[in-house]
Amino acid sequence: MSNMLPDMRGYFGEFGGRFVPETLINVLNELEKSFDNFQKSDEVKTELADLLENYAGRPTPLYFAKRLSEKTGVRIYLKREDLLHTGAHKLNNTLGQIMLARFMNKKRIIAETGAGQHGVATATVCALMGLECVVYMGAVDIARQATNVKRMKLLGATVVPVTSGSQTLKDAVNEALRDWVKSCQNTHYILGSVTGPHPFPKIVREFQKIIGEETIRQFKLKEGRLPDAVFACVGGGSNAAGMFYPFAETDVPLYGVEAGGRSHNPGDHCETLTQGSPGIFQGARSYLIQDGYGQVLPVHSVSAGLDYPSVGPEHSFWKDANRVTYVSCNDEDALAACDTLTKLEGILPALESSHAVGYLLQNMSTFKGKTVVINLSGRGDKDLGIILGEVKL
Ligand SMILES: *Cc1c(COP(=O)(O)O)cnc(C)c1O
Repeated sequence: MSNMLPDMRGYFGEFGGRFVPETLINVLNELEKSFDNFQKSDEVKTELADLLENYAGRPTPLYFAKRLSEKTGVRIYLKREDLLHTGAHKLNNTLGQIMLARFMNKKRIIAETGAGQHGVATATVCALMGLECVVYMGAVDIARQATNVKRMKLLGATVVPVTSGSQTLKDAVNEALRDWVKSCQNTHYILGSVTGPHPFPKIVREFQKIIGEETIRQFKLKEGRLPDAVFACVGGGSNAAGMFYPFAETDVPLYGVEAGGRSHNPGDHCETLTQGSPGIFQGARSYLIQDGYGQVLPVHSVSAGLDYPSVGPEHSFWKDANRVTYVSCNDEDALAACDTLTKLEGILPALESSHAVGYLLQNMSTFKGKTVVINLSGRGDKDLGIILGEVKL
């Protein structure tokens, strides 16, 4: 297992790389070089650390969920990324990348969004820095995440509906890349997960790994050791990578929980790592959901943030290296877990995070007596309409 990845070419083993139009190669090279310089600058690192603490609210707590633990027989800690400003882990990445954009003198920001959390986190940091912001969002997601669309507009962003393909996250990424090919001279693309062409998977992981670093520190203070297991949901894979990466060199068992879709509809297929196969998609080689001809297949999940047919290349590497166990939780079990956590702890989790909780609830006996950490990637306010059955999927 190597924490030195990706290599010089942007590969995690056989995954990752850079599969993009000619016009983007230069800008990706520039981004890679700027990120290296950025990481070497004490001045920007100090400023980012200050924003993470005083603007975003880090460190987020590591909370012992007493009543949930009593119910399950598993001692459960929750890493409270739901308490981060704007309500999810996304801000760790957008704060880092907006400072990187400023470092590179880019005046315009574009982003893609699924559930709208990354769009809100991007619009937020653009307001903070006074930069123009354009967010691409699938029309289906716009319909099911109306509150986040309103938030982005209030923050001064332009939300562009994407009506191609399945009108969800993957189509929004395509549109953002199309914009960037034309605009990269003055525009930075704040990509929202550990996906896309090199160096994005590395940049986003570096900005998210603070989740796992804090967790190790906090858990050691409370328990004097490392956890028996760590769980995180996996869409593109950024909250999981941020949690897992600092654990990669330890022997703590890590579980990435993907969306299983509707239990009565086996064709939903969001389980990229357990049902997919390697291929090239949106700039990188990774596991993806494809047919025999390499065509990407439609996926479905109750949570817009997990509705993505591929996954970050580092997860594909961890899977093949047997470092992380990838499992799934279906829509119904995630909704039930959301209800359980809300009723027992007074914490309304995002439907994405509910998949990680749901997997543990479905497998309580396996982890009986263990002390574990679940990364609670976000809060559920954005999902109220779906949870209450008011929004049709
Ligand atoms: C966006 C989002 C996810 C999925 O994205 P990852 O890159 O896999 O982390 C999970 N949880 C929440 C709350 C989100 O907003």
